[in-house]
Amino acid sequence: MIRHALSMAIVISAVMFALAVGGRPGAAQTSPASGGPVDGAIIEDLVAANRILAQEGIVDAYGHVSIRHPGNPNRYLLSRSLAPVLVTAQDIVEYDLDSNAVEARGRTSVLERFIHGEVYKARPDVNAVIHTHSPTVVPFSVTHVPLRPVLHTASFLWVGVPVWDIRDAGDPASAGMLVRNGRLGKSLAAMLGDKPVTLMRGHGNVVVAPNVQTAVRYAIYTEVNARLQATAIGLGGPINYISAEEGAAMGRTPGDPGRAWELWKRKALGK
Ligand SMILES: [Zn+2]
Repeated sequence: MIRHALSMAIVISAVMFALAVGGRPGAAQTSPASGGPVDGAIIEDLVAANRILAQEGIVDAYGHVSIRHPGNPNRYLLSRSLAPVLVTAQDIVEYDLDSNAVEARGRTSVLERFIHGEVYKARPDVNAVIHTHSPTVVPFSVTHVPLRPVLHTASFLWVGVPVWDIRDAGDPASAGMLVRNGRLGKSLAAMLGDKPVTLMRGHGNVVVAPNVQTAVRYAIYTEVNARLQATAIGLGGPINYISAEEGAAMGRTPGDPGRAWELWKRKALGK
């Protein structure tokens, strides 16, 4: 009797193991390995970044922010498909750089996650990536007016802001306007080059930085600068843009950017 129960248990275990390994039809046979546990304070800053971008009107129901995994440069962390203002620590999913989820647990992935994976592949200096539909940058993506710095807090734009057109990516999927595969993400990352910001025609932008605090600041001031530049153009006449020399000097001595992060984070997390 005991032997029978034991053999049944073995059979049941074997079936469960086969189901676990085989998974659903068409599912990937092996998920990428995790880069390891991540400090709670780092996840909190990623959650805060989502909330801040929503609070400042840079993202709405769409748009997303990721960080490179602090313990493994070949992994990144991004919320599941969810409006950024609703993101909590439990919504953060780990991906490899081909944008395969390490452990999805039924959570739906962001369709345009390939933006993040391909930028991390192309830019070892980048540890945070933001994709937004930042409204005021869009006119600069569909006209011949380049986005240029008019505000000192956006002086990082002095290096130039390229415009990526999905039609030039040579991918049939581009008809949908969304970066829905690695090939489109790679094309976008190539247009970004070594810059902090690239616009996406008729869509929004990608903003990158060495850390998430800087990336959030760049995304916010890119939107503010676009608004002010459009206002200056409306006033008419030649515009005195921030010069390359001034922009480079600001990059060397950025002032006190941490003060803005503390304010935004406190407002966003309510503490
Ligand atoms: Zn988008």
